[in-house]
Amino acid sequence: MMDGATTTAAPVLILLGPPGAGKGTQARMLEDKFGLVQLSTGDLLRAAVAAGTEAGLAAKAVMEAGELVSDEIVINILRDRLADADCAKGVILDGFPRTTVQAEALDALLAESGQKINAAISLEVDDAAMVTRISGRYTCGGCGEGYHDEFKQPAKDGVCDKCGGTDMKRRADDNAETVGSRLVAYHAQTAPLIAYYGGKGSLQKVDAMKAIDTIAGDLNEIVQEAVA
Ligand code: AMP
Repeated sequence: MMDGATTTAAPVLILLGPPGAGKGTQARMLEDKFGLVQLSTGDLLRAAVAAGTEAGLAAKAVMEAGELVSDEIVINILRDRLADADCAKGVILDGFPRTTVQAEALDALLAESGQKINAAISLEVDDAAMVTRISGRYTCGGCGEGYHDEFKQPAKDGVCDKCGGTDMKRRADDNAETVGSRLVAYHAQTAPLIAYYGGKGSLQKVDAMKAIDTIAGDLNEIVQEAVA
């Protein structure tokens, strides 16, 4: 007999899109709005590099070249992070999966805990605009808020709107040269995931060439429905 208790699986959302599409910016906005946890494998890898862990040491040169870190390293890092208590609220995956092997590993991991992907949202952009977007971006070292020389400056130059921090950082791989390799990797290894999730009926597409707030509005609608 049922005891009347119901358990709702925590939502799992995926943001797909090339570097510069705005995955991180939008994931942070969704995190605030829906009380989910943003999981960026790029951030986790950068933390591993900074901490000098074995995975970080193996990943550093690959990241600097704009190539993909091995599936094994990334899947292990993601699996460990997903097991943290805060992820029970639900997650927005930003930058994972990036290969079919990773997508299949994610399906298996979620199946173990009775979870499923609520939506895989593809941020659709023109490659040509990505170099400008990436070359001008920087983040607050204190809270991680993202800014851009051209598109999103803080109200006071050099001071974070969100936390008041003044330690602004630019990523080592956010330069015109590396962006080229990162776009090549995206099209060769990650873009096939659009068909992968299309085939599973979980794909949604958003025009991510629009203004940040307009894209956020479009995403809110999709997420609202996907987690309902
Ligand atoms: P991102 O912050 O998502 O732009 O990722 C920065 C870099 O970290 C990428 O260019 C890759 O070298 C590496 N990386 C991040 N996520 C993954 C992933 N899921 N698979 C392989 N490499 C990744």
